[in-house]
Amino acid sequence: MQGKIIKGIAGFYYVHDPDKGVYACKAKGIFRNEKIKPLVGDMVEYEITHEGDREGNVIKILPRKNALIRPAVANVDQAMIVFAVTSPAPNLNMLDRFLITMERQNVDTVICFNKTDISDDSEVARLGEIYKNCGSRLVFTSVERDRGIETIRNILKDKTTVLAGPSGVGKSSMMNLLKPEAAMATGDISHKIQRGRHTTRHSQLFHLEGATYVMDTPGFTSLYINDIEANDLKNYFAEFVPYEDQCRFNGCVHIHEPDCAVKAALDQGKISRSRYEDYVAFYNEIKSQRRY
Ligand code: GDP
Ligand code: ZN
Repeated sequence: MQGKIIKGIAGFYYVHDPDKGVYACKAKGIFRNEKIKPLVGDMVEYEITHEGDREGNVIKILPRKNALIRPAVANVDQAMIVFAVTSPAPNLNMLDRFLITMERQNVDTVICFNKTDISDDSEVARLGEIYKNCGSRLVFTSVERDRGIETIRNILKDKTTVLAGPSGVGKSSMMNLLKPEAAMATGDISHKIQRGRHTTRHSQLFHLEGATYVMDTPGFTSLYINDIEANDLKNYFAEFVPYEDQCRFNGCVHIHEPDCAVKAALDQGKISRSRYEDYVAFYNEIKSQRRY
């Protein structure tokens, strides 16, 4: 039988089998001689040892598509970061950092700005302008008014998605809305997805429907970018790419060099100032960390 590991706690791997539910499985010594350890997100073969206690054994890990380090999860198809357009105002520095950390791990990204029902159109337009060429899919939603939720449902469908975002932006509300058996889901989600503010959190997958899984990441623990070479950082800003060929210098990092086409595009309003400023800030941050 096959299932997907949705969490791992205290030596147990919780295997979700879409046909049979969740079993608490042991990895019975079979991995002792192998380098590979089960990860949340792994597709596995398992056997049931006690149907009544819902216990079993993981027998085999099926080949992985990928394995993220931060957060530690296998077979990730994409990452979605949720912010609110307002209340709370989005932290775009964090957003840009998140996009880099995911791109670095070759994971496609989706940006969701929620709470359009209480935000000014001008603010929605401003965020749309900033992120339109960043290489991520961009979706505006209102969980409150059920706007854009069908789009989110389609984006998540049959995929494993890492979900991130600060608290208060509407992630739990959105998952509640997306879970088909909404009445039942409330308690379920508050247990599984909502941020325990005073408890240690383990990364775990939340099953939405069919082969659709969402991983709620505990906070923003994964926004470390200092392992990127400063000179490579520009490659993470998709909107710079169309101009780079026209810079005077090969290897231009678009900061202090003369005749820089990226800076020219910035001055002409073709590249967003918010994105460019974060680029420069991250560049300097990486440089200063390396000076030892
Ligand atoms: P989380 O911390 O990201 O999981 O956010 P919650 O789902 O707990 O939502 C935080 C607050 O924002 C709650 O009071 C929600 O009712 C509210 N909220 C969520 N989505 C929306 C929305 O689209 N519009 C408005 N006005 N409020 C929302
Ligand atoms: Zn340049």
